[in-house]
Amino acid sequence: MNRFGFQISTARSIDLDRADAKLRQRLLEAVPSYRYCIGCGGCTATCSAGAFTDFNIRKTHFLFSRGEVDKLSPTPMPDVDLNKCMLCGKCTLVCPRGVNTRGLIMQMRQLLVNKQS
Ligand code: SF4
Ligand code: SF4
Repeated sequence: MNRFGFQISTARSIDLDRADAKLRQRLLEAVPSYRYCIGCGGCTATCSAGAFTDFNIRKTHFLFSRGEVDKLSPTPMPDVDLNKCMLCGKCTLVCPRGVNTRGLIMQMRQLLVNKQS
């Protein structure tokens, strides 16, 4: 088959009714501005870590808020992805919705540490 240099992503559906909302709830309690996220991806586009690694902050906070932390990176170390972030704060500066993304990263790290202990 001729692939023209790219492949169409496999279709998948996400059943939000089955998502584990506990982590999202804790994130929202700690970083209330996260409720205003519209998923635009501005944070990912400007991310310093994303320029040098496969780190994707939008994907990370979406997976996390759906309770899919096992998809962040291979278990048993789901915090590996989050540790690629250098906490430079550029994502917070560009977010059009004023989400404290830097705080979000720190909170996700903390929640994962608590989850593992
Ligand atoms: S830039 Fe802000 S609104 Fe856009 S995906 Fe990132 S956190 Fe959400
Ligand atoms: S704080 Fe982290 S996630 Fe945000 S731009 Fe910097 S490296 Fe990327």
